[in-house]
Amino acid sequence: MKAPIIQVNDLHKTYGSGDAAVKALDGLNAQIMPGEFVAIMGPSGSGKSTLMNILGCLDRPTSGEYHLNGNNVSKLNRNELAGIRNQNLGFIFQSFNLLSRLSALDNVMLPMIYQLDSTDNKATQKARAEEVLASVGLADRLHHLPGELSGGQQQRVAIARALINNPKVVLADEPTGNLDSHASLEILNLLHQLHEKGGTIVMVTHDSTVAQHADRVITMLDGKIYLDGHDLNTALMMDQTIAEKRGS
Ligand code: ADP
Repeated sequence: MKAPIIQVNDLHKTYGSGDAAVKALDGLNAQIMPGEFVAIMGPSGSGKSTLMNILGCLDRPTSGEYHLNGNNVSKLNRNELAGIRNQNLGFIFQSFNLLSRLSALDNVMLPMIYQLDSTDNKATQKARAEEVLASVGLADRLHHLPGELSGGQQQRVAIARALINNPKVVLADEPTGNLDSHASLEILNLLHQLHEKGGTIVMVTHDSTVAQHADRVITMLDGKIYLDGHDLNTALMMDQTIAEKRGS
């Protein structure tokens, strides 16, 4: 049997202390297998960003364990975390997070510069970045600055950057949140292509039409998993019910 690529056990995250303490995660357990395309839904404040920050090794849980690709991440120091992050994870954010003074090509090459054990020379890295940009349909935009590209094109640069180190897992936080429906579909198609090649994708979205592209939906509520399954209709119905109960 395959081992999970992500496993979290009894994950707790508390912000603040005493009367001001907020339990953002409250004993969350989950397993994600290699090759899954998972959407994380749930109302605002349910802990989605907190969970993504921990899965992305950008923050630590207050207690509980996180295993990423067989590594017990909870025990690693800051430098080790950065290494694990670089080897295993690619990030796609709602706001693209590109450096505005760097070309598309240079933005995509950035993660390779930080790869400590990289023996590739600059020319090999450049060729690889060009290849990944071509795979997202931007072969003719290599030297454009982010400001010279449309929102959809900027997000494609961000996807190319996320894929440059061949990550095991892509973490996407509202990846289509700032895009019109045409550009959103293009981005979702790219995620599908990645999924078909065996990539693991964990995507936060509040948009049910976006969540329908995943093959598993985890719905969070009050720092826990409320619903987890492959039946998208049930997940979307529950999402609606929670939203109605909360008046949001
Ligand atoms: P979501 O992404 O589902 O909206 P979050 O993970 O952002 O949920 O937040 C979960 C809870 O933790 C919320 O009650 C939020 O106010 C609180 N929270 C999040 N980040 C912080 C922080 N840095 N300091 C204090 N409270 C926080």
